Amino acid sequence: MKNFDVVVVGSGPAGGMAALEAAKGGLSVAILEKESLPRYKTCGGGLVFRGREMLPFDFNHVIMSSYNDLYIYFDHMELPLVAKRDYPIVTMIMRDSFDELIVKEAGKFGAILLENHQLKGIEFQESIQLITSQGSISCKYLIAADGVMGPTAKLAGWKETRKTIPALEYEIEVDSESFERLSKEARFDIDAIPKGYGWCFPKKNHLSVGVGTFEKRKVNLREYYHEYVKKLGVKEVISEQAHGFQVPVSPRTDGFVRQNVFLTGDAAGFADPLTAEGITNALYSGSLAGKAIAQNFNSPTLAEQAYLEALEERLLPELKFTGYLAKLFYHQKTLRNFLMKQNGQRYCEKITDVYTGHLELSKEVKARILKNLGFGIFN
Ligand SMILES: Cc1cc2nc3c(=O)[nH]c(=O)nc-3n(C[C@H](O)[C@H](O)[C@H](O)COP(=O)(O)OP(=O)(O)OC[C@H]3O[C@@H](n4cnc5c(N)ncnc54)[C@H](O)[C@@H]3O)c2cc1C
Repeated sequence: MKNFDVVVVGSGPAGGMAALEAAKGGLSVAILEKESLPRYKTCGGGLVFRGREMLPFDFNHVIMSSYNDLYIYFDHMELPLVAKRDYPIVTMIMRDSFDELIVKEAGKFGAILLENHQLKGIEFQESIQLITSQGSISCKYLIAADGVMGPTAKLAGWKETRKTIPALEYEIEVDSESFERLSKEARFDIDAIPKGYGWCFPKKNHLSVGVGTFEKRKVNLREYYHEYVKKLGVKEVISEQAHGFQVPVSPRTDGFVRQNVFLTGDAAGFADPLTAEGITNALYSGSLAGKAIAQNFNSPTLAEQAYLEALEERLLPELKFTGYLAKLFYHQKTLRNFLMKQNGQRYCEKITDVYTGHLELSKEVKARILKNLGFGIFN
């Protein structure tokens, strides 16, 4: 049976970065992936600046386009809010080539990719035994980076405590006039769907257009998507491919490490509750898990402690804060509209600074904001 120091399940941004950091730290690492690379991943492919800054290698050749301006349209406001920066607020990538690139970079440090290997079972013995579609593998540490639907956490004994929201994304080819106009901006349309938003992210020759909702009752996403395309003023849709998926917008409540299994990215529930943006936190949590294990390989207790402390430094408090903001933003429309009319541009600037990594709100500032919004005490 093959044996590795670390096995990473999943070759998305969390898995790629976890493998890269663990292999860079001198450990033997395998990435189990049920598909073969490059594989399509349902995603708008919008990478915010701080995610871009986390990549320790050049990725210019997989960039489709970059936008220094971000447009946010509200139904109740005549003009969009626009954030402008002198660096790319959002960079457009396609996940097949982006994810494959990270895995290749991890390979430079010795990480091995095992494609068409689907994880099917886990047994905890002296080491961790993994039953895969192509035989068994053992390891000392297991990193779950198998996304929102992956089985690792469940197989290792976690209950389902993440909240997920449905999102529908289309890769669409449109007439040249519509493409010319729409490819000038990366845009969000708040309320394009009840309790949610639509996005239009231009790629090299096509658009990624989608809708996602925080609505609890069943919503016909397809219908709202078609309405949204009309609203964007698209004259002709030449071709379109639909991809539906879930985004986990709240972290698990029963921990992120047990029995040497570390949860990262969507498997842990780390997508942002306000924007449903998950690539950055996947890259970040994957890299934190890989580093924590590499630096404390001989002591699982210290490795666990290092990972949990690193998550507590920024990621978990931020998700808690943006989770409260999401409640206001998507579920209290009247109050939100009032606040956005008064101070929309100021909020837009601050939020842009947070998501691009240029502003970290202190615990006190977050508490003050939430108190002013009527959320009471925040710890
Ligand atoms: C419609 C939509 C649009 C989105 N748009 C954006 C956006 O524009 N920007 C943004 O930042 N985020 C966006 N997100 C969120 C983002 O896609 C995820 O948060 C991100 O992909 C999480 O990365 P990950 O590495 O945790 O998991 P994933 O990227 O999901 O990777 C998981 C990997 O695990 C593999 N796997 C699963 N099960 C097994 C198994 N049993 N054995 C082996 N391998 C397995 C999968 O094949 C996959 O390769 C969007 C999500 C959706 C649904």
